Amino acid sequence: MSLRLKFVLALLFSSLASVAMVGGMAYMQLTSKFDSLRRQQVSMHFKSAVTDYLTKYGNWQAASAVMPFRQFMDQQGPANGQQQRPPPQEQQQRPDGPDDGPPGPPDGGPAGGQRRGGEPQFRFILLDAQYRVLLGAGEYEHNSLAPSDMQRDAIPIVINDKVEAYISPQGVLALGKQDIEYLAAMREALGYGAAAATVLAIALGLLLGNGLSAALRQLTGAVKAMRAGALRQQVAVEGGAEIVTLATAFNQMSEELAQSHEALQQSNQTILEQANKLKEMSIRDALTDLYNRRHFDEQAQQMFEQSVRHGHPMTVVMGDIDFFKRINDTYSHATGDVVLKQIAEILRTHMRISDVVARYGGEEFVIILPETPLPQAAALCDKLRQVIESFPWTNVHPELRVTMSMGLCADVAAGTVHAMLNKADTLLYRAKEQGRNRVCFG
Ligand code: GH3
Ligand code: MG
Ligand code: MG
Repeated sequence: MSLRLKFVLALLFSSLASVAMVGGMAYMQLTSKFDSLRRQQVSMHFKSAVTDYLTKYGNWQAASAVMPFRQFMDQQGPANGQQQRPPPQEQQQRPDGPDDGPPGPPDGGPAGGQRRGGEPQFRFILLDAQYRVLLGAGEYEHNSLAPSDMQRDAIPIVINDKVEAYISPQGVLALGKQDIEYLAAMREALGYGAAAATVLAIALGLLLGNGLSAALRQLTGAVKAMRAGALRQQVAVEGGAEIVTLATAFNQMSEELAQSHEALQQSNQTILEQANKLKEMSIRDALTDLYNRRHFDEQAQQMFEQSVRHGHPMTVVMGDIDFFKRINDTYSHATGDVVLKQIAEILRTHMRISDVVARYGGEEFVIILPETPLPQAAALCDKLRQVIESFPWTNVHPELRVTMSMGLCADVAAGTVHAMLNKADTLLYRAKEQGRNRVCFG
């Protein structure tokens, strides 16, 4: 069931319940008021007739001997307390006994019978000052003592400051024609009220429900967009107070989330960059920016295995600067550093991307040339040797001369990359022995 429908039904139910409650209570109050007014009116009439009867003849016995009470009442007519005679329906329930003149003969009679609706007919029981029945309406025996509840509710008839008798109204008094018309009008008004409340509730429910569900639809769309990754969402801040509060809180939350996400991304980026930097630093030599020995060992082993697997040639080169100690000693350690950096630069610029060049130790360099057979590698290394020798070192120091000796090994059958490096180192030693500034290969 949609929210809008629930809203309409809730309003409809509460408005109809209100109309039924208020209308029902008013209807009951009115019915009861009409009843009590009519009882009062009829009682006054009867009481006045009894008072006149007793005043005229002194007491009941004397009065009854002269004229039965019913006859006396008939003589009095409607002038005695009433403007006009009651309509036939009301005459049917006259507050008196049936046929012997006074209201209800002592020996009982049809006046105490039931009305057609099952409710006891309205009549009066007349008691003397000691609560003994004078007129029992055919229901109570003459001269019997009235029940205690009847005594309690009985209306006294006072003549010359003395209670001479009591009357007790009994049974149900039917509503007058006018009262019934009043109540019918009231029922009709209630019907109109209920219809108007229904229309109003449906219209109001639709109006409020529409507003609410539109706001919720907008919020749902924004939440879905956030879930899809677009964290910065802003919904319209309009509608009822609760909707405005919700929309404002949502917008704030979305903005804060988007900002935190951006900050997190920023810091992730920084961490990533720093991690990359650290990784680079961990594999590079600080002075020459060539790969360091540890990284070289890892790479060399992988390249060797690859070369063996594919049966491709591979050459390893060990290079060592000649008389480098003398350079340091003669021109300073700083000059030695400049030489190391320059040699690294020369090596780097003459290598292919797939080649690996590293600083292996103090003034020793190592190179792996994958897919390169020995003659080709020897040619390349000799070219490198010449480039180093012919580099304008005098720019660094007027008397500076720098050369490099190299040993090469392309014998993959040696078994391991270390075995190849050992062989290259042996050949390097031979190059040194043979006078330096040369390339030796087996
Ligand atoms: P050879 O021709 O036989 O190779 O003689 P060499 O003097 O080059 O060899 P040796 O091993 O005797 O000297 C190497 C020197 O390199 C010793 C050391 O002080 C120097 N050295 C090692 N690392 C560095 C460095 O980072 N900077 C500088 N300036 N010198 C270094
Ligand atoms: Mg050395
Ligand atoms: Mg050396």
